[in-house]
Amino acid sequence: MSGDALDDRVRRKLVSSLYTQPSSLAIGALCGISAAVTVAIMSGNRAIMIGTLLLTLVGVFRVAVAARFGPESDRRDARLLELLYETGAFSFAFLTGGVAALTIWFDLDTPQQLLMVSYAIAYGAGTSTRNAGLPMIALGQMVLSLAPLIIVAAIRAEAIYIVFAVTTTLLIPAMAAVTFNMFNVLRESVAAAETSQRMADKMRDLARTDVVTGLSNRAGLNHEMVEKLMTMRDDQKLALFWLDLDKFKEVNDTLGHPVGDHVLSEVARRLRETSPDGATVARFGGDEFIVVCEVDTRSQSEQLASNLLEEISRPYRIDGERLEIGTSMGIALMPDDGTDLDTVMQSADLALYHAKVNGRNQTSFFDASMTRDLMRRKEIEAELRAAIQRDELSIFFQPIVDLETGRIKTFEALVRWFHPEKGELRPDEFIPVAEETGVIITLGNWITAQAAKACAQWPEEVTIAVNLSPVQIKAPGSALGILNALKEAKLDPSRLELEVTESLFLEDNHHTARFIEKLSSEGVRFALDDFGTGYSSLGYINKFPFKKIKVDRSFVSGPNVGRKSDAIIRAVAELGSRLEMDIVAEGLETIDQVRAVRDAGCTLGQGYYFSRAVPDYLAATLLAQEREKEPTSFRLVG
Ligand code: C2E
Ligand code: CA
Ligand code: CA
Repeated sequence: MSGDALDDRVRRKLVSSLYTQPSSLAIGALCGISAAVTVAIMSGNRAIMIGTLLLTLVGVFRVAVAARFGPESDRRDARLLELLYETGAFSFAFLTGGVAALTIWFDLDTPQQLLMVSYAIAYGAGTSTRNAGLPMIALGQMVLSLAPLIIVAAIRAEAIYIVFAVTTTLLIPAMAAVTFNMFNVLRESVAAAETSQRMADKMRDLARTDVVTGLSNRAGLNHEMVEKLMTMRDDQKLALFWLDLDKFKEVNDTLGHPVGDHVLSEVARRLRETSPDGATVARFGGDEFIVVCEVDTRSQSEQLASNLLEEISRPYRIDGERLEIGTSMGIALMPDDGTDLDTVMQSADLALYHAKVNGRNQTSFFDASMTRDLMRRKEIEAELRAAIQRDELSIFFQPIVDLETGRIKTFEALVRWFHPEKGELRPDEFIPVAEETGVIITLGNWITAQAAKACAQWPEEVTIAVNLSPVQIKAPGSALGILNALKEAKLDPSRLELEVTESLFLEDNHHTARFIEKLSSEGVRFALDDFGTGYSSLGYINKFPFKKIKVDRSFVSGPNVGRKSDAIIRAVAELGSRLEMDIVAEGLETIDQVRAVRDAGCTLGQGYYFSRAVPDYLAATLLAQEREKEPTSFRLVG
């Protein structure tokens, strides 16, 4: 802000100070008028009566103006008010001085002179301080109220009046010094207050702004939302769009932070341009943005969502690089999905979470079932941490059988959770929660340790298969953790088989490759699980030392089984025999299925036909029975 502008604001404040106390103005006017009226009546002098009448009119007018405009003169034209005040003040001062001078001129009784003259001097001195905010007005009033007295006294030329004229004249520079002094103090304090107010405003604005994009930040969003709610019409809805850029971290990691910042600014610009007037656009942490605006209908918010998504998805050209960035979006409406701010934010957040889980680049509107899902997940998460300690988890073992001999070659370890209230929980229900929350790392270590211990009790040719989640493998020290578990159980590494799925290889990760290399070199074997459900890329089979491929049970049983699936199993089995890998058919429930997969060339089989997953003592019993009842315990019909 320029010095002029600041001066102008200070001036306005000072002008308004003239009007701050209309009561002092009224008391002053009342005193003057009553003094003049008293003198006019007592003296009966016509000139004084006319002067008094004018004084009364001006006094009443001034009080009326002050009462009408009051101290809120800030908004009004300061110049006009100043002029109005100036005219009234100067006329009143001159009339006061004039009536007092007339009492000397007509040589009225001493008490009458005393009353009017003392009032005029008091008025002159008083205004010179009261109106010090505008020194020209203050000085003008003082001079106008004292000058008639001085002139008339000088004209009378008697000794006492000469002394009076001289002393009163000296009063003028003395009071002027006081006026200027006060003016400086006043101006500086008003200016200082102005400056600190402006600084405070600026700091507050900074605290509410995101530096990278210039959008509102979290604090700014809160502030603007509260303001929006106060002005929103009853028949309107507030739509909250929560956007999360997909894989933004990769942009940052591969192209650097400056490019990342560029992308964020560009996203911010597009959001601002696409959002309707009056919408709030905010950046909410790393790569999340929030747009809030009033809408009349739900379909209006759908339209807006698709506009936003379309705009964000257009390719970006930054520093010569062409980038495409997907966005997931969660949307919640107020009051439909929450009647207060916190609830709507939570709803939009949940909707966003669902959009992300459903695969990226998706939009999802909040739905009440999302809350139930989340509650169950949260419950499971909390209880899962305690479950290990409380001994609610156990490992069951399902045999994997040699389709030639019918003998058990391996047991697959499958975790079971017996919840005291909810009953038996399926791994499909809690393993994903454990993966999302990282609990799988503790849980997985425990499973491997238990499985290794159980296997150490079995005959040497029987091996154990353990499922590993990608999260578990990516955790630091994962390979060492597994080797330690083997050491503690005194189990030879060659008796452990780790089942991994293709999802592990979706992100090319050196750590994964090193994990597999390290454990393979120690003798641990790897199996590719659920083959046929994912990418089923032969690339992984070529790159990593798999000893086994497990063909997913959807190829063995279920609605899609037929000539096609049979051909696929044959092809995979052929591949296995050439590469000297075992091919396991999963989910075998009937003897026909067993025959079919064996004829197709699978070497191993697993499924309810042989046995469900059983506790460790039953697994041991199965092995013992097998030894007693040679040649086979399972009915394998040739
Ligand atoms: P998976 O690794 O494919 O495990 C095989 C699943 O198929 C097991 O379900 C097993 O009980 C089931 N199954 C076996 N034979 C048959 C059959 O003949 N018919 C049918 N319909 N199903 C059969 P479960 O135990 O419910 O496990 C489900 C999934 O949970 C597993 O699929 C695995 O991905 C995961 N999981 C289980 N235990 C663990 C574990 O200890 N660690 C990890 N990371 N994941 C586990
Ligand atoms: Ca498995
Ligand atoms: Ca499987």
